[in-house]
Amino acid sequence: MLAHDVLVIGGGGAGLRAAIAAAEESDRLSIAVLSKVYPMRSHTVSAEGGTAAVMRENDHLDFHAKDTIFGGDFLSDQDAVEAFVEEAPAEVIQLEHWGCPWSRDPDGRVSVRPFGGMTVNRTLYAADKTGFHMLHALFQTSLKYERIVRHDEWFATSLLVEDGKVCGVVALNLHDGQVCPIAAKAVIICTGGGGRIFPFTTNAAIKTGDGMALAYRAGVALKDMEFVQYHPTGLPGTGILITEASRSEGGHLKNKDGYRYLQDYGLGPPTDEPVHRKMELGPRDILSRCHIQEYQKGRTFEGPYGHYVHLDLRHLGEKVIDKQLPFVRELARNYVGIDPVSEPIPVRPVVHYMMGGISTDIHGRTSLGGLYAAGEVACVSVNGANRLGSNSLTELLVFGARAGRAAARYALERPVFPSNPLAKIASDERRRLDQRFLRAAGRERIADIREEMQKAMENGVGIYRERATMEETCKTLRGLCERFAHIGLADRDAVFNTELIAALELDCMLDVAEAVAHSALAREESRGAHTRTDFPKRDDVRFLQHSLATHTPEGPRITYAPVTITRWPPEERKY
Ligand SMILES: Cc1cc2nc3c(=O)[nH]c(=O)nc-3n(C[C@H](O)[C@H](O)[C@H](O)COP(=O)(O)OP(=O)(O)OC[C@H]3O[C@@H](n4cnc5c(N)ncnc54)[C@H](O)[C@@H]3O)c2cc1C
Repeated sequence: MLAHDVLVIGGGGAGLRAAIAAAEESDRLSIAVLSKVYPMRSHTVSAEGGTAAVMRENDHLDFHAKDTIFGGDFLSDQDAVEAFVEEAPAEVIQLEHWGCPWSRDPDGRVSVRPFGGMTVNRTLYAADKTGFHMLHALFQTSLKYERIVRHDEWFATSLLVEDGKVCGVVALNLHDGQVCPIAAKAVIICTGGGGRIFPFTTNAAIKTGDGMALAYRAGVALKDMEFVQYHPTGLPGTGILITEASRSEGGHLKNKDGYRYLQDYGLGPPTDEPVHRKMELGPRDILSRCHIQEYQKGRTFEGPYGHYVHLDLRHLGEKVIDKQLPFVRELARNYVGIDPVSEPIPVRPVVHYMMGGISTDIHGRTSLGGLYAAGEVACVSVNGANRLGSNSLTELLVFGARAGRAAARYALERPVFPSNPLAKIASDERRRLDQRFLRAAGRERIADIREEMQKAMENGVGIYRERATMEETCKTLRGLCERFAHIGLADRDAVFNTELIAALELDCMLDVAEAVAHSALAREESRGAHTRTDFPKRDDVRFLQHSLATHTPEGPRITYAPVTITRWPPEERKY
């Protein structure tokens, strides 16, 4: 049977950073990275805009912390934010030493661009392909360590738990369909977010919340799941992201009258220069709500994929666009047939990021012994109720490294692999997959259930929310879970059975969707990305708390835990 000291599920930015940190902790450890896609195809590769860290003399760790906490509408744990901003600069310098080619100013210093909700230019970038270069640097660095082995194109289907501790995972080898137990002293979940529970998202097809569901089913709570970020500028139809960097370089958002409408929502006055936290550089939750209000006023365009506004880059000129935003030009040309040098780009809000996730402490530890989580799948929580753009890539580095080190130390203290009957547990899992999916003769179809789930999520827990539609969504999701028990697959083959993968992913998405909808229904206030028309104000008396969704057979049970406040007492969030 396969056995590793530290097993990382996920080969994206967080997973690779965690694996490297574990390898550096001790040369006695065997470390594995298991990933359902080849690591370089993880969603991190598609990050465009940049990664935030204090690098300049006009900036300060406290400014970064305050912006993050303010942007998160005071739901961030401030001890986590302090650790985050402190360790960020060393992490991005380390990444450069590993080969990440940060864009530079003429004087040789790394460039920093403004980003939404930040008061100082602090977002490092590699043109508008930051995630690609970061993931490359991490991947090639991981190859240096012989003690890091990889299981590429393996799908983790469940965690092995014995005596209240995790002791490995069961995974499906997609190459041959074998269901294999893998023993591990410590497991780090780095499986990314789950934007695919919504119909319209910037997220890759693989972002189905698998790791959240695995931990949730094993009894670990999911924290702050109601906070789902919409990004204000996705392409209609595909949902492909047009990075915030296009606004930080000076792009304008205009309604159908060619008017920069953000000035009507307290974000003005408009200028030609990007101004911190104003106009197009306001935070994402506010900009997404402004879009919906423009739509309600009849001031957006209507197209085959619904309402949209214009992102106008023409005044930046071809030279700036080609140097700073080459990927934006490529995406606009290829996917909407528009050259941003001469035409504005149609954009609308799209689901982009999940602030919530597996509840961890600042070392990535969960409530289950030996289980850690980092990256978008985890909720530490740095991002609170609304993440500021460019903080996620930094979070992968800081908390990926922290989780890697903590898991390594934990594994070093556990001398032997558990001698319990892992093979038996794994054979039970094999039977479950067979009975539930491969041999099931049900008539329900994956695509139908998935589509209905996505529609229910957009209807009930989209940008604006209220009780009646959320209750309806919760009910619909429960019904879909029941229908899911009766699915049938047409493909029963063992080799690269993509239909089986789709079923496993949908199973995870239904759990994650329920956690989101129930957490949202229970939070009777508006905070950050969670906006309720029936409770329009923030309510610190009742809800300055993290929600925790715990799995029960009847659906999620919601409880609350305190928010850690260190130096920044809650105040009104105004821009
Ligand atoms: C288009 C786009 C642009 C973005 N731009 C920025 C930006 O400029 N700045 C910023 O800060 N943030 C940005 N973000 C957010 C940020 O990129 C992500 O939050 C971050 O990259 C997530 O990294 P991760 O390592 O947590 O997960 P991912 O990179 O998503 O990796 C997840 C890994 O888990 C594996 N996995 C998942 N499920 C399983 C399973 N069941 N079994 C085995 N393996 C599994 C996958 O194979 C993959 O390797 C962007 C996001 C998107 C979608």
